[in-house]
Amino acid sequence: SAISTGGSLRRPASTMSLRSTSSGIRRPSTPVSSLRNTSGSMISSRASSPNSSRPSSSLSSRSTRPVSSMSGLSSRSSTFNENIYSGTIMVSVRPRPLREQVKTSWMIDSDESTIYSPELGDFTFDSVFGNEVNNQDVYNTSVADIVNKTLDGFNGTVFAYGITGSGKTHSMQGSPSDPGIIPLAVTEIFNFINENSHIKNYSVKVSYLEIYNEKILDLLQPENSSTPQAFSSASNPSTNDLKIRDDPMTGVKVVGLSEEPVNSVDELLSVIERGHMSRKTGETEFNSRSSRSHAIVLIRICSIDILTKAETVSTLSLCDLAGSERAATQTARRKEGAYINKSLLALSTAIAKLSAASTSKTNSNVGHIPFRDSKLTRLLQPSLSGNSVISILCTVHLGEQSYSETVSTLRFAAKAKNITLNASKHE
Ligand code: ADP
Ligand code: MG
Repeated sequence: SAISTGGSLRRPASTMSLRSTSSGIRRPSTPVSSLRNTSGSMISSRASSPNSSRPSSSLSSRSTRPVSSMSGLSSRSSTFNENIYSGTIMVSVRPRPLREQVKTSWMIDSDESTIYSPELGDFTFDSVFGNEVNNQDVYNTSVADIVNKTLDGFNGTVFAYGITGSGKTHSMQGSPSDPGIIPLAVTEIFNFINENSHIKNYSVKVSYLEIYNEKILDLLQPENSSTPQAFSSASNPSTNDLKIRDDPMTGVKVVGLSEEPVNSVDELLSVIERGHMSRKTGETEFNSRSSRSHAIVLIRICSIDILTKAETVSTLSLCDLAGSERAATQTARRKEGAYINKSLLALSTAIAKLSAASTSKTNSNVGHIPFRDSKLTRLLQPSLSGNSVISILCTVHLGEQSYSETVSTLRFAAKAKNITLNASKHE
């Protein structure tokens, strides 16, 4: 295929993590050494796409790539990604780095937006990340625009979707040496607030909830709902999970969910850390619990213009979803699997229907979107109903043993990429 190198994307060199690229993942026609260098990321143009056997999942990488975010945080005041204005969802794919000896039939194109399998052809998204990117790179490319729009008064949602072990928590939380999307977003929020405190009075509140067995648990005040212990006990009916109500302002409201005011990055992160801890202490099998539950951090930003007194409230929702591995596997493992699937299944169904509504040429009645079928879709309904900005990070494992799961994750991602929120009119 005709591949030529184009402009440099000015990804800050300091944030590049120069892990070795696993050979075999890139298209063989592209020398790995030409893909990136230390001074920035090289992007290649693909004039023709000989392997585009699945155009349905493709959008032009030219028009969708969030170039404005590539130069880092300083891009805040410049034009935002066109995606966000046009109501489409930003969809990125992040493969977990493979060990050298692991076989894979997937390749990532040097345009950094196409993942390819010989069997299924191309899947093209806003970004497909290589091994060498770190969380800061993922944040800059796929999340910064969402956070900026939230600071502008829109509601923003970021969710990590993928099978257990594919890197959702790694991407959302990260580690001290490679902070994830949550701490990076929090840092950007407070940087912005501090820079603009002469124009507006800001207040920030944080909530942290978990959806487990279709019940909502307040991770900041576990005693307010059920304790995690009570949740894991099959004999406890756990009738006191938090309820969702319709709210004229926000669309939905979790009744009784605690909100903690925070004044700095450190304060906000320590509140979230407390939420992580209450999640951990509740379950000896933490990993199996976390793979079956959805963890959602809600950051509410309220601003009052000092001159006009105009008030703006917006929420940034950061979701680390339950593992997307198959229904059958989960149900066989534990009965709770069925509940998780209820939420994830409802999310997939909603995404599929929104996709159909958006791509339908006739604009005919595509049908009812079943937001009320699960806690997760009820919570996400305002995000999926327009006037809000969404980025979905799909994490995948490219080893052969995960092939079918990767295909289903990419199909979910492709449907999400089809959606135009403004265009889909639904209840
Ligand atoms: P999930 O939350 O999707 O179940 P994790 O984020 O816990 O998966 O990832 C599983 C393991 O793989 C962790 O040890 C994590 O540190 C590692 N891992 C995942 N993604 C990456 C990545 N992009 N780079 C380095 N390590 C990763
Ligand atoms: Mg996890």
